[in-house]
Amino acid sequence: MSEPCAFDAVIVGAGIAGLTSAVRLAELGLRVGVLEKGEHEKYPCNSRMTGGAFHVAFRDVNDDQNVLLDAMEKRSRGFARPELLHAMAGDIGNAVRWLKSKGVKFIKVGHEAHRQHTLAPPILLQGRTYWEGRGGDVMLRTLGGALKDLGGTLLLGARAVRLNMQGDRCVGLEMEHQGARVPVRADSVVLCDGGFQANRELLKEFITAAPEKVKQRGAATGNGDGLRMAREAGAQLVGMNRFYGHVLAQDAMHNDDLWPFPIMDFVCTAGVVIDASARRFVDEGLGGVYLTNSIAGLPDPLAATVVFDAAIWEGPGREFISPANPLLVSRGGTLLAAPDLAGLAGQLGVPAAALEETVAQYNAAIDAGATARLAPPRTPATHKPHPIRTPPFHAIRLCAGMTYTMGGIAIDGKSRVLNAADEPIASLYAAGCATGGLEGGEFIAYIGGLTKSSVTALRAANAIAAGRAKT
Ligand SMILES: Cc1cc2nc3c(=O)[nH]c(=O)nc-3n(C[C@H](O)[C@H](O)[C@H](O)COP(=O)(O)OP(=O)(O)OC[C@H]3O[C@@H](n4cnc5c(N)ncnc54)[C@H](O)[C@@H]3O)c2cc1C
Repeated sequence: MSEPCAFDAVIVGAGIAGLTSAVRLAELGLRVGVLEKGEHEKYPCNSRMTGGAFHVAFRDVNDDQNVLLDAMEKRSRGFARPELLHAMAGDIGNAVRWLKSKGVKFIKVGHEAHRQHTLAPPILLQGRTYWEGRGGDVMLRTLGGALKDLGGTLLLGARAVRLNMQGDRCVGLEMEHQGARVPVRADSVVLCDGGFQANRELLKEFITAAPEKVKQRGAATGNGDGLRMAREAGAQLVGMNRFYGHVLAQDAMHNDDLWPFPIMDFVCTAGVVIDASARRFVDEGLGGVYLTNSIAGLPDPLAATVVFDAAIWEGPGREFISPANPLLVSRGGTLLAAPDLAGLAGQLGVPAAALEETVAQYNAAIDAGATARLAPPRTPATHKPHPIRTPPFHAIRLCAGMTYTMGGIAIDGKSRVLNAADEPIASLYAAGCATGGLEGGEFIAYIGGLTKSSVTALRAANAIAAGRAKT
């Protein structure tokens, strides 16, 4: 770039969060620049590869605010910052209407509440380019077009590397662009770089002892640049130890046909998940996202296996839009089978007596309606435990599929970045999966990546514009 770069607001990252903030700011009359490190028109990011379901804790975005609040609070169990919960419940309906007004298209997929607003057209459920020309891809192009029409700038191949601070105020940043370090002046900066899931050092610091044994279940473009820059500027980080993801067959580590789908969650929440000693180590009833985090947290994240029987394979195994049965096997994944548990233990290389004991205790607890007394307990409420009795017995070796990190830069209800004293850092904002404080916590509350991103992004834009109107 020859001329110096200066904007009213500069946005880091052109996923849904970045483009939403940018389009809203441009619509409100600000000069906006979006920096995107991806170089090509179809730069990869999670928003492009998304499944596209806009929901709030699996409720429809048009549900009553109190219903949404209640659904989020039930999942969060006291973890989330209340002002973020209120922002989500209060704004999501308008956020979806605003996206529609910019040309983003939604479609109902089936009857479940969380699929009533799915980006159109829905993704294909197979192939490496399952996203091409589908919901997320189309949405990004639509928002990118809207930004251009409003006079905003989207700069590809531009990686933000450092914030420029003047005292306690953010006054722009430095980017790497076309091999040079370029200063960018801006009255406000919005960090929307999508999380730190692809940064092995940060994953090791906060989430897993062996990041190389966790499968990236997404674009793997979130390197935590925003988080690092914000941290250097004194930002508070929150909820760093949790991530959103699904349980995958371990073969997904080397077979690209096995991620992001099919997921193994429904087999796992019906049967038992064991470690290398053939013992249960996690409450399977807490769901797929919880299980995925627990698997990543093992000293060896590739040591987890799900054990189940023919009845589970033919029942819960066939649940979900892209079911484990038959897709695991038809896409080249490994389904172990044996007429008895000792035979299965032999194939897995785990102690047979321990596996038989684990399954016997589990079956007896189901019969007695006492799975909560197992160690670890097995919550029966949301995901019904199924006995493991009908041969052939099956096992699938598992891995944790990581989609995006739930924790990150602490923000308030206006998406202002907070310092350690919980005070906003002047002119610095963050939105989307770069932020923390809404999702995660002890029970690993998943609220919704797309809804979180659109609400926090619009909040950032509105706060920036309101701040300028006052000065
Ligand atoms: C397979 C899959 C299925 C999913 N399904 C759903 C679903 O059904 N419902 C749902 O709610 N969520 C879903 N998600 C999650 C959802 O897509 C994400 O939560 C959301 O898209 C995140 O948006 P974002 O803008 O925060 O981040 P991203 O979309 O990841 O965008 C961040 C951008 O920042 C850029 N960037 C990073 N660092 C820099 C830097 N230093 N300088 C400049 N640019 C930078 C990246 O290249 C990237 O383009 C799914 C995700 C995947 C992968």
